[in-house]
Amino acid sequence: AMAKIALDQDAKRIYRRLIGYAWPYWPVFLLGVFGNAVFAATDAGFVWFVRNFLKDAFVEPNPRVLEWVPVGVIVLFSLRGIGDFLSTYCAASVGRNVIRILRAQVFGHFLKLPTRFYDRESAGTLLSKLTYNIELLAEASANSITIVIRDTLSVLALIGYLFYLNWRLAAISIILAPFIAWLIRRVNQLFRRYSTRIQNSMGDITRVAQEGIEGHRLIKLFNAQDYEARVFDRVNEQNRRNHMKFILTRALSNPVVQLVAAVGLGFVLYVMIGMVRAHQLLQQDFFAFLTALLLTTAPLRRVVNVAAPLQQGVAAGASVFEILDSETEVLDVGRPLERCRAEIEFRDVAFNYNEQKGEVLQGVSFRVQPGETIAIVGKSGSGKSTLVALLARYYDVSGGRILLDGVDIREYRLADLRRQLSMVSQDVLLFNDTIRNNIAFSAPDAAQSAIDAAAAAAHVTEFTGDAPGGLDSLVGDRGTLVSGGQRQRISIARAILKDAPILILDEATSALDSELERRIQQSLDELMRGRTTFIIAHRLTTIENADRILVLDGGSLVEAGTHAELIAHNGHYAALHRLQFNV
Ligand code: ADP
Repeated sequence: AMAKIALDQDAKRIYRRLIGYAWPYWPVFLLGVFGNAVFAATDAGFVWFVRNFLKDAFVEPNPRVLEWVPVGVIVLFSLRGIGDFLSTYCAASVGRNVIRILRAQVFGHFLKLPTRFYDRESAGTLLSKLTYNIELLAEASANSITIVIRDTLSVLALIGYLFYLNWRLAAISIILAPFIAWLIRRVNQLFRRYSTRIQNSMGDITRVAQEGIEGHRLIKLFNAQDYEARVFDRVNEQNRRNHMKFILTRALSNPVVQLVAAVGLGFVLYVMIGMVRAHQLLQQDFFAFLTALLLTTAPLRRVVNVAAPLQQGVAAGASVFEILDSETEVLDVGRPLERCRAEIEFRDVAFNYNEQKGEVLQGVSFRVQPGETIAIVGKSGSGKSTLVALLARYYDVSGGRILLDGVDIREYRLADLRRQLSMVSQDVLLFNDTIRNNIAFSAPDAAQSAIDAAAAAAHVTEFTGDAPGGLDSLVGDRGTLVSGGQRQRISIARAILKDAPILILDEATSALDSELERRIQQSLDELMRGRTTFIIAHRLTTIENADRILVLDGGSLVEAGTHAELIAHNGHYAALHRLQFNV
């Protein structure tokens, strides 16, 4: 019971929050409500019409019936049409605006979520929230609310008219209402449970589909089509099952509510026939009552049905608000930093990705002078990339401190800190845009001439020179139209343009031929001049030319020194060096 209450309070909170989004559009919403009220009034108007028609035509014949009946029908249905139009159109208008704002907020939130969040959640699931879940919210916030308002008003107007005609009888007719209300409530709870499951399984479908689409080469190479298809079948089937439970609830709820209503109607009819016989009820009132009661069944049914999209909306709202409530990085608070000197110190730094898996770095201490070039070497998994990730505050240290110019990097404005860093790696993300815009990405305000200069310095113009559009040619979706080496050069151009005092080079693999490598090295040397540089180094020349080499092993800094010193020391580095370069 406690859980149920908590759920309902959640639903209320979610609704209140949704209404907050719709609030700025209240005049439109109000116009929609007005449309609904007009629509509902025509229901009661129809009963009034039937009653007076019966009276004037049969019970107490009145020749004026010929005049008002045809006009009345037309007026009634015109009003109904106007109400219908207003309610549908206004509700949709508010709903689509709410969707637009929510999408923008959720996407804006995505851009600021900490790296840890993305380690936990799959991109597919997040995309599904942005597209599918938010779309369901549209239904809840617009269509369903319209139905709730319109049909509740209809039922109230009809019942109100009944009370006006004969309050005793009206009271008897609504005797079963509390039971129907309870039924609707119960069904609502089921709807919400199943919609949450449907939405989660929809997230699974997107996730698996995304993996399949992005990994299409890998799947081909390993002939893994059948395997992937089976994985997909599983989530697809799960989704179908959840949907069927949902639909079963909906399909059953209708007849059950109708049956309860029919029992009520039977009882009321029994009482009414008795009253007509005893001349306590006029014939026209009898028919008016009957018409009104029959008219309530349709809106009642819709109100029960609307619980489905409404609860889908609540479930969707919960998942969307969960994202909006998760903590984002704060980019613009803290000590401002224009351009650092780039003196860096790691002081007893420890780090773990999560508590259970234990520390990935521990007790790492070293100091780097401005302009120094530091090579970081170590076996794969020793923590090289992690160390560099901490500098950009993709993650925060779990112990110790990292100092930049003598100040803990957590004190700086995050945006300012990141402005001090450039990163060049093989694994470059290119956006589906022109080469020029991909370079300018690192400095959106850069002058065209600066972009051209950076492109030339990074030897980008060497390959774009031949292409018809030059720098304005497209790189294709995620850069599929450019080669690995070209990618790297675009990435170097980005770094040149950004002109940050700290440079991080990840030379993980090299897709460059030696002639090109030599020239790229030139532009890199150019780029490194006057900057503090960290290189996750694999190439012998890079390592030998570094001012200092840091050797990581199992997350600890085991050795530090120049190439010559470390070779002489004949420890980890010497062994690694022998292994890697066969010397
Ligand atoms: P290197 O760059 O030296 O190959 P990494 O810094 O990438 O090493 O990885 C160090 C350790 O941290 C490895 O055990 C790796 O599995 C783990 N690791 C790396 N990235 C993550 C992550 N995002 N979440 C959890 N563990 C990670």
